[in-house]
Amino acid sequence: MTDRHEPGFRQSVDLMFNRAAALMKLPPGLEEKIRVCNSTYTVRFGVRLRGRIETFTGYRSVHSEHMEPVKGGIRYALSVDQDEVEALAALMTYKCALVEVPYGGAKGGLCLDPRQWEEHELEQITRRFAFELIKRDLINPAQNVPAPDMGTSEREMAWIADQYARMNTADINSRACVTGKPLNAGGIQGRVEATGRGVQFALREFFRHPEDVARAGLSGGIEGKRIIVQGLGNVGYHAAKFLAEEDGARIVGIIERDGALHDEAGLNVEEVKQWLHRKGGLKDFPHVAWHAEGARLLEAECDILIPAALEGVINLGNAARIRAPLIIEAANGPVTAGADEILRQKGTVIIPDLYANAGGVTVSYFEWVKNLSHIRFGRIQRRQEEARHELLVRELERLSADKGLGWTLAPDFKERYLRGAGELELVRSGLDDTMRAAYQSMREVWHGREGVTDLRVSAYIVSIQRVAASYRAKGL
Ligand code: NAD
Repeated sequence: MTDRHEPGFRQSVDLMFNRAAALMKLPPGLEEKIRVCNSTYTVRFGVRLRGRIETFTGYRSVHSEHMEPVKGGIRYALSVDQDEVEALAALMTYKCALVEVPYGGAKGGLCLDPRQWEEHELEQITRRFAFELIKRDLINPAQNVPAPDMGTSEREMAWIADQYARMNTADINSRACVTGKPLNAGGIQGRVEATGRGVQFALREFFRHPEDVARAGLSGGIEGKRIIVQGLGNVGYHAAKFLAEEDGARIVGIIERDGALHDEAGLNVEEVKQWLHRKGGLKDFPHVAWHAEGARLLEAECDILIPAALEGVINLGNAARIRAPLIIEAANGPVTAGADEILRQKGTVIIPDLYANAGGVTVSYFEWVKNLSHIRFGRIQRRQEEARHELLVRELERLSADKGLGWTLAPDFKERYLRGAGELELVRSGLDDTMRAAYQSMREVWHGREGVTDLRVSAYIVSIQRVAASYRAKGL
């Protein structure tokens, strides 16, 4: 239940921005210039479906053009409206600045429930929406580059890329007009998992700092930590899967649209995902307690809470009852400004959305660079790198034999050392580096700047500083 005093999503983001701006000394007027959304385009278009004309409403909002292209996903959901799209576009500006991805912020949305339409109908709708945006340069490799978000995936991105190519037959960079495409349509390895992977890398970096971990009243590493995740879609599924399978966390709760599963022994994320895929909900998943009121599980005891579905789920109505000492915002805006204040007073540590879910846009950036350079990462240097490694291994083995040292290299070392990095390894390495560096920049502000109490305000300060510097450099 949301409180009637709860501000809207857009206002909530502005309140968070204001809290940071109040701690900074920005030149007069610049604060306002950075905060406001530059433009929002609304389009209503008709598509002939099921024997009648259906009218759809879509948006593309550009928050800041201090760098171009502007970047931001396209969401398909019934909740989509101007307020939501503008809030998400603003978050994109701050996110890109924080992770040093050279884009301005944008977002798009189409007000529809994708589950109500067949695949071929969705293709017709998507192509028509893309047509409207492309003809106004609101999709363009140099100006405005969408990506997937809630309710869309690589399938929709492939349709958009194809639509752009049909309308711009001589544009050699047409594939760079959208990211999150399938590999065979100009995508990049590791993009589908990127946001969830970024959540994992963010938590790994957080747990490298015992001082920060202690602020949440926790200790040790990720292993054995009890996690509750809301939303087992692209972001939530990958984050939960990697944290459980690779870092030894225990996923004790999963919340979906129709309810929640709770099992202190730990849930098998892959099995739950398969069930969700087959049945459309979590109900009747074998041998695990199911609760119809899913959102109540947000309030259950656990070490880490990962809201990975939609905005505003932790609000004035439930913030006081949230027991998790650490929240990582995999979704955009899951904690409202009011709830944020309550949680801060309780001492809850929140790893904010503009950092936590930046893995998607980071790998989208890699994909865009790949599209513009027309070559897969690693293609030129991989075998040369392997040959050099082999040279060293051979020399070590020769020395060992000549001098009778009896050294033998462990077989798995040899195999791993000899393998040159392919696209996936390079993407993961770039993502890991980005998440570590951005955390460091937030952390410096968190621990080193007067008046700063939390990671969210630190993240905003770092971002606003960077956007302000770029405006100053342009001489606006
Ligand atoms: P998705 O559509 O793949 O998954 C969303 C999941 O949440 C679905 O499984 C859906 O059933 C579930 N869900 C919807 N309403 C729910 C509710 N009320 N309670 C519980 N579960 C509910 O979307 P996604 O791409 O995983 O995006 C999730 C969030 O992450 C969004 O806030 C999005 O803006 C953000 N995000 C996504 C990306 C990306 O690369 N996809 C990048 C950055 C941020």
